[in-house]
Amino acid sequence: MDKKETILDVIIIGGGFSGLTAGYYAKQAGLNFKILEASDRIGGVLESEKIDGYLIEKSANTLLYSPSVQKMVKELGLEERVIFSEKIAKNRFIWKDDKLHSVPLTPQKILFSPLLGWQHKARLLYGLFCQSPVRSEQTIEQFFTHYFGQYFSQTFADAMISGIWAGDISKLSMDACFSDFKQKTLQHKSLFKTLSNQGKNNAPIFSFVNGVSEFVQALEKNCLQNIETKQKVIEITHQKYFTVQTQECTYHSQKIIFCAPIEQLPSLMSSCIAAEKHPKLVQLCESIPYAPLHLVYTAFSPEAIDLKKLEGFGFLIPQNQHRRILGAIFSSSIFQNRAPNNEVLITTFIGGEHFREVNKLSKTQIYDIVNQELREILKITQEPIWQHHIGWQKAVPQYHMGHQQRIKQIIDLIDCPNFLLNANWHDGTALPKIIKKSSVLFSK
Ligand SMILES: Cc1cc2nc3c(=O)[nH]c(=O)nc-3n(C[C@H](O)[C@H](O)[C@H](O)COP(=O)(O)OP(=O)(O)OC[C@H]3O[C@@H](n4cnc5c(N)ncnc54)[C@H](O)[C@@H]3O)c2cc1C
Repeated sequence: MDKKETILDVIIIGGGFSGLTAGYYAKQAGLNFKILEASDRIGGVLESEKIDGYLIEKSANTLLYSPSVQKMVKELGLEERVIFSEKIAKNRFIWKDDKLHSVPLTPQKILFSPLLGWQHKARLLYGLFCQSPVRSEQTIEQFFTHYFGQYFSQTFADAMISGIWAGDISKLSMDACFSDFKQKTLQHKSLFKTLSNQGKNNAPIFSFVNGVSEFVQALEKNCLQNIETKQKVIEITHQKYFTVQTQECTYHSQKIIFCAPIEQLPSLMSSCIAAEKHPKLVQLCESIPYAPLHLVYTAFSPEAIDLKKLEGFGFLIPQNQHRRILGAIFSSSIFQNRAPNNEVLITTFIGGEHFREVNKLSKTQIYDIVNQELREILKITQEPIWQHHIGWQKAVPQYHMGHQQRIKQIIDLIDCPNFLLNANWHDGTALPKIIKKSSVLFSK
């Protein structure tokens, strides 16, 4: 064995949030491990940056303060750095029939909402109290249509899914995207019971004073000795234990936690599975697509907008309203420290499964679309004073129908109990869900 070779309990491939949180729990379990990260920085898609006085996020803008997040934040000594969203961020809007409407989130608001006619309200009541759950796999569209009818599904479910998955509700699997929710509904045999339990545990929304990067930096500091950057894994072999090859080093370990994008899996695992099985692995991995998502940060002078319109988290747009942007969040309303001099900062999302062509547009074309649509929706009277674009060609993995079956087939093909998947293309993309998944990786 040459000098650079090391024998470890665990190798974590990928130093994004999935890899870092896996490392956090590996350290707690007292394991000898390494996180191997291809690039020269840790965090993957997560990065906060202050540019010209504006605090921007390259991907996740907010997180839910769920119990497992809270515990990790506390253990990392980050409690003092947490900032919760402003109270007004509880208001959510939806763009429908050329108007912004407040999303009715309480029974009282539902009763008086102009978005819902009496027939929709009656359908809601029927769905909540009388409809039984469906055991077989459903698309998100089928799930919500089953309970509340097509109008609800195409208005509220569609808009909500654009905001979370940038996806298509007629393709996404309810069972894969919201596995806990579907399971609980089946257990309770009642959607009402699941929703009311969910309501009791409603976690607040938060970030950190200097953005989500503070979380990444604390996780990095927590296992600094175990992180190797500029170590792109190029091959994995498996005999008695795993041998992981990067351009510079060879590592050996008993266990692998795979936390990199799915496109990396087939080539890295080609030596671990029989040659005749490899094409099937390629095909399975290719059938898990990623939706593109571009973020445009736009600042306006406070005089350019009726500020009352910005008293909320933001707005979402259902597909049937035929807009090209998916929606926007009012960053400077959610957290006060996002823009200087009382300026207004809005983050607009464009792309998703319905608008893949966004990847072919120039930055100027994207700005033109965003500016025109924001002007029309928010009745903005002046030009932006600052703008910044972040484009993710492959942003969010899409859990289409059959996703759980595909993951099972991938695991069966690899056929090794010590090779574990913990990437965001499997069992949850949101940061709290990633923490929850990572927390059980090393439990006996
Ligand atoms: C635009 C956008 C907005 C989002 N908004 C939110 C939000 O508001 N709230 C929320 O909770 N979640 C949000 N998410 C989801 C969340 O941010 C991601 O799911 C999560 O950060 C993904 O982390 P990851 O570690 O799984 O993947 P990544 O961040 O992609 O990390 C993978 C890492 O693996 C490394 N790697 C790749 N190949 C190799 C190799 N061969 N060897 C070694 N390393 C390798 C990469 O360099 C990278 O660092 C958002 C995501 C996006 C894209």
